[in-house]
Amino acid sequence: MSLYNCKSTSTPFLWRMTKFDSDLNMEASYLVSISDCSCPAGYRPTCRHRQMLPKFTRINAVDKLWFFDFETNTWEKHSDHSDSGEDLQATMGSDSVAR
Ligand SMILES: [Zn+2]
Repeated sequence: MSLYNCKSTSTPFLWRMTKFDSDLNMEASYLVSISDCSCPAGYRPTCRHRQMLPKFTRINAVDKLWFFDFETNTWEKHSDHSDSGEDLQATMGSDSVAR
């Protein structure tokens, strides 16, 4: 199982997508925009992170405790997730970014 969550950054139109295993251990974290991604597939025209990004923004799941399971195409909500990216939490623009 690969779970992903998505957080806004201090940069407009740039998000941080983090991959977790089924126990919510962080596996990887990438900076994602509509056109670019910092993952190993970032050189390709698209990748799973860029495919998932509209899903997060569409249902306003950015900066929330919602996790997307890419394989099964389902959402999970977790409340026991310790926020390791708290220092990255955007203090501005989270409302305007969530579109
Ligand atoms: Zn990617």
